[in-house]
Amino acid sequence: MTVTVRFAPSPTGRIHIGNARTALFNWLFAVNNKGRFIQRFDDTDIARSKQEFADSILYDLHWLGIFPDVTEYQSRRVEIYDAAVERLKAARVLYACYETPEELDLRRKVRRTRGQPPVYGREALTLTPEQVAEYESDGRRPHWRFLLPNFTSDPLQPERTEVHWNDLVRGEETVDLASLSDPVLLREDGTYLYTLPSVVDDIEMGVTHVIRGDDHVTNTGVQIALFQALGAEPPVFGHHNLLTTVSGEGLSKRTGALSIESLRGDGIEPMAVASLAVLVGTSENVTAAHDLSELAGHFDPAATSKSAAKFDPDELFVLNRALMHHMPFEEARDRLIVLGISGDRAESFWLAVRGNLDRLSDAVAWWRILSDGPQEAAEFSGEDRDFLHQAFDLLPEEPWNGTVWKDWTGKIREATGRKGKPLFMPLRLALTGRSSGPELADLLPLMGREGTLARRP
Ligand code: GLU
Repeated sequence: MTVTVRFAPSPTGRIHIGNARTALFNWLFAVNNKGRFIQRFDDTDIARSKQEFADSILYDLHWLGIFPDVTEYQSRRVEIYDAAVERLKAARVLYACYETPEELDLRRKVRRTRGQPPVYGREALTLTPEQVAEYESDGRRPHWRFLLPNFTSDPLQPERTEVHWNDLVRGEETVDLASLSDPVLLREDGTYLYTLPSVVDDIEMGVTHVIRGDDHVTNTGVQIALFQALGAEPPVFGHHNLLTTVSGEGLSKRTGALSIESLRGDGIEPMAVASLAVLVGTSENVTAAHDLSELAGHFDPAATSKSAAKFDPDELFVLNRALMHHMPFEEARDRLIVLGISGDRAESFWLAVRGNLDRLSDAVAWWRILSDGPQEAAEFSGEDRDFLHQAFDLLPEEPWNGTVWKDWTGKIREATGRKGKPLFMPLRLALTGRSSGPELADLLPLMGREGTLARRP
């Protein structure tokens, strides 16, 4: 059977790096198993889901290099869920409940004070037809719960019932269905909660592997029971650890923190984001992969730690610098053109400056320095100024060859007796206006003799 995975966010905000981790785990798993990747929008919550968020999620996935085989929207598939509901009702594992949230809350409190677990006590199963008729005539609409298979013959006497699976990430997992409330599948207003549509789609779409965050481990116990109630074989499950901020807070789509959009705006390369999103919190070294197929070679779900992984955005810059450092000109060329960097100097310029860039757009400042001179003139002591006058007088005539910087500074050393920092720093400041930057040996040929002399203080 073709390996089939899905990434199933609800389109209620922009995706963040933690969502990207889930998407990439699925994508890389598909890459490594020649599988299919389904983009599924869990948009049954009509009030909070928005098409613009779905569009932005697709845009962010494409930016990361993920191109789904198909895109599905749950809001367009309600009839399929309705049919599943009819089957569950016929099997008498879906039952109507009439409690209000306040009544449920009160019951939970009572159970707690009695030392009982705060799960739903299945009181709705004991309603008489008269009580149901009364609720209905009062205008109450039922919500519907799935009867978990955690009893032998009497649902009011649940017993420990273990659901087991071999998790792709976490190994052997167990959930006790007696520790859980029967989940509500349908709300009073007829809309669906996440649990049932997800299972129905996983069955209908032939999903073979469900890879998602470990906040869904308990759901998996429930959903395995639901797969079985619908007569289907459950897929393989894998639950990866979640990312938190450095101070340990969870990430949320709603706050926009560490959104893929904001990282893109900060000039972070997609492969810096993808490499960190996938490798943080695993036993793999965090290095910048050049593309997703290289990253797939480092991806092993079983190498993922079970505890939450702290995500430090500063690490993105480390990876970004590494990507810049090795980026071939052919890869940068079009992006540099957009930034106004082109012509026959563009390639040697790129090779000279790439090792000094935090982000690609930082190349613009260096291009300006080389084309127009230092942005701010440096201040020099009288002594340094005399030294620089002497030095500029020694600038070799053109044509220059690859050793012009070495030849020039050799002559300066001989004439002035300066060496090391006292020799190089005034030159660097005069030529670039900055105290650090790319090798001057690489920059000098880009300025040419005339351009260099124009920098004489
Ligand atoms: N919509 C669910 C979520 O965003 C999907 C979970 C799943 O992958 O099944 O958490």
